[in-house]
Amino acid sequence: MANVSLKGVCKIYAKGAAPAVSGVNLEIRDKEFMVLVGPSGCGKSTTLRMIAGLEEISSGEIRIGDRLVNDVPPKDRDIAMVFQNYALYPHMTVYENMAFALRLRHVDRREIDRRVREAADVLGIADFLDRKPKALSGGQRQRVAVGRCIVRKPAVFLFDEPLSNLDAKMRVQMRAEISMLHRRLDTTMIYVTHDQVEAMTMGDRICVMKDGVVQQVDTPLAIYDNPANLFVAGFIGTPPTNFFRGRLLSRNGSLLFANERFEIPLRDDWKAPAAPHVGGEIVLGVRPEDIGSPRAETAAGAPTLTATAVVVEPMGAETYLHLSADDGAHTFLARVSPRLPVKVGQSATLALDLSNAHLFDAATERAVV
Ligand code: ADP
Repeated sequence: MANVSLKGVCKIYAKGAAPAVSGVNLEIRDKEFMVLVGPSGCGKSTTLRMIAGLEEISSGEIRIGDRLVNDVPPKDRDIAMVFQNYALYPHMTVYENMAFALRLRHVDRREIDRRVREAADVLGIADFLDRKPKALSGGQRQRVAVGRCIVRKPAVFLFDEPLSNLDAKMRVQMRAEISMLHRRLDTTMIYVTHDQVEAMTMGDRICVMKDGVVQQVDTPLAIYDNPANLFVAGFIGTPPTNFFRGRLLSRNGSLLFANERFEIPLRDDWKAPAAPHVGGEIVLGVRPEDIGSPRAETAAGAPTLTATAVVVEPMGAETYLHLSADDGAHTFLARVSPRLPVKVGQSATLALDLSNAHLFDAATERAVV
């Protein structure tokens, strides 16, 4: 059992190079499932590898439990890491792969056997203990890689993109299995992924990173509902938030968003917090489900957008409407009912529900409301 604490952690790989990780402060609670998420190159693997001790830190402090581990070698950190490529020993059986780390530590033979069989049961691989990795499917190999960690009973599990080599269906299944495993083992887990769906569905909390810098740390829904900035609003949620760029105006005592194509009356409760931005460049962020949904259509006095459907994507339970006003200069996406009778080339007027919308400062990109 352990919390993990990062204070002012930086990593610079080469002199003169931009920092791969910059001033990361992060408190991961005991037994928490924390997901580090962000686009490729944002520094999430480097952060994880510094926690593991596989990468030296350039400055800052990392603690596991109460212990400062900056200079503690990986094998003494009481952590276990699952890698993207599984890193199984090809010449060893599943059993031997899982037992290997314990053998190195001279754990008693019977204890090794007990732990390997217990982990194999938990992971549903008890029937494959005599097979070599090449005789396993991707999902089974992934389970062995996890099993190898479980037998060591570490204080902290680290996962580095463990599902990215699996096909889409297996990813969904393993996602659920790792979440169940977390509940069952009740241990701190830190999980790195570039996939925001994995982050949303698995994390107790999510740490969103960009360019080596932490953008926001919170529960998945808090981040979805209240993104700290434009990047987070665009990265978390699929399809992504629509951004409308324009100017913030005050007309007859009401707040108004305006650009060449749209004029959108805004919420009265935004007047006070947005007051310093009146007259300035602003970005209005609206999630696709808040355009043309039944909830939007019934919202009293809801503003509307009129545009032409350029692509209609039926997903079954819902339809993604790609809309364009003014030859593509203003495009946005709406998640609407599959019953909405809109065809490509037709014009549609859709209501906007602004109750979950946000305004961002166009220059700083930070959320205003
Ligand atoms: P992510 O896991 O988010 O894709 P990484 O932590 O792997 O990102 O990389 C962050 C940045 O550090 C990237 O710009 C990457 O090119 C750089 N980087 C990663 N590993 C090394 C290394 N061993 N040497 C030099 N630069 C590296």
